[in-house]
Amino acid sequence: MTIKRTIMGQLPYGADLYESLSEIVRREWITLGRIQAIGATTHAVVAYYDQQTKTYNPLEFSGGMEILNLNGNISIRDGNPFVHVHILLGDAHGKVFGGHLLPGTKLFACEVTIDEFDGEGLSRSKEERTGLFLWTSGMLP
Ligand code: ZN
Repeated sequence: MTIKRTIMGQLPYGADLYESLSEIVRREWITLGRIQAIGATTHAVVAYYDQQTKTYNPLEFSGGMEILNLNGNISIRDGNPFVHVHILLGDAHGKVFGGHLLPGTKLFACEVTIDEFDGEGLSRSKEERTGLFLWTSGMLP
């Protein structure tokens, strides 16, 4: 895959991380790409996906945390650009927590890089076995 363009910048203090990333990819209409970021949060909301119950169990982290790594991809869900992001957070002692990013994470600072790829956007739909919205094409051998 080749990179069509790269968007690099910082998100505002107090912004909702997931909503901000979603807004950018919808505004720029990116249907195939990847996201990475570093920064810090004042409050974080992530989830752990329980494979037995097939539900996302939320986890919240209040107070300042470092965004040690944020990694995600951009594809299509319900006809719109959709971001799927996982995040690693570090506390004051260097302990690391993380999960599937949910709305509700508030930023202290965040530096983001978004790469848009050339090519057809991948689409998501619900897969019964996992209960997850996975890509309907692009299965690797
Ligand atoms: Zn996830």
